[in-house]
Amino acid sequence: MTANIIDGKAFAATVREKVAGHVARLKEESGITPGLAVVLVGEDPASQVYVRSKGKQTVETGMNSYEYKMDADTSEADLLAVVEKLNNDPEVHGILVQLPLPGHLNEDLIINSIDPAKDVDGFHISNVGLLGTGQKSMVPCTPLGCLMMLRDYHGSLSGMNAVVIGRSNIVGKPMAQLLLGDSCTVTIAHSRTKDLPEVVRGADIVVAAVGRPEMVPGDWIREGATVIDVGINRIERDGKNKLVGDVDFESASKVAGAITPVPGGVGPMTIACLLANTVTACCRANGLAEPEGLTA
Ligand code: NAP
Repeated sequence: MTANIIDGKAFAATVREKVAGHVARLKEESGITPGLAVVLVGEDPASQVYVRSKGKQTVETGMNSYEYKMDADTSEADLLAVVEKLNNDPEVHGILVQLPLPGHLNEDLIINSIDPAKDVDGFHISNVGLLGTGQKSMVPCTPLGCLMMLRDYHGSLSGMNAVVIGRSNIVGKPMAQLLLGDSCTVTIAHSRTKDLPEVVRGADIVVAAVGRPEMVPGDWIREGATVIDVGINRIERDGKNKLVGDVDFESASKVAGAITPVPGGVGPMTIACLLANTVTACCRANGLAEPEGLTA
């Protein structure tokens, strides 16, 4: 079997198009322009790239983008003051504090200081609780993007066996909640899971969010299963830098029914879902109908 490729890059373009359409409608019908504020503390090169890309795509979809760049030695009080200002700014519908933060800053404290209605990353404890209890919430972008691709490929996910490898708060746990919400039978695997290959072989859907290059080989995958590879790992091969996922694409694509590539799979969907969340937050804040198909 040769797997179908789930093209996240193309899918993300359709999500951005939908977002741009809703933004144009909001401007025309209600005179509202959704706004996304991104706060970057310090000069982590990867974070700088992400923040630039988020700002660019926000503007491209017609939204307002606000960037706050703060020094690496910014105090907790100063950062909290910026978040508070954004919480109170009616032009700002989404707030994202780029992680990781420098070590002297308490990430949980900062994230939980964001107004949950503007928490477009979906990391605030209120949103985590709402998602866990099946209520309307802001959904973390990476798992939301995975869910959109799975729904698009399969239609209904009801009754499917899903194995999520990884139990982080930003990917693994919310991914499992979303799959449960779509009536999958969900197993969450992690570094202490016994006989991981056998667990994975039971899956109709495998979501790998581990952070270990090509850890999941094809012979762990059930024939015809759908594989969503969240991993982004930089490796050196044949003297060249390369991006690879947590799944060994070469062998897995020979057995899987469908698979996301790295790059070009989950990655592009994450920013597209951030834009989608900003529009959703803007509609909710203004008591307007939410766009369909842009959230869980
Ligand atoms: P993380 O916080 O480091 O969590 C990794 C998880 O993998 C942990 O739950 C860990 O288990 C588990 N794990 C580690 N080694 C394992 C093993 N040998 N067998 C089974 N499970 C193992 O990572 P994360 O933030 O969730 O990110 C995971 C990957 O996704 C990374 O490559 C990251 O770069 C990528 N990512 C991509 C996007 C995107 O937009 N595409 C977004 C976010 C993250 P324990 O809990 O037991 O330690």
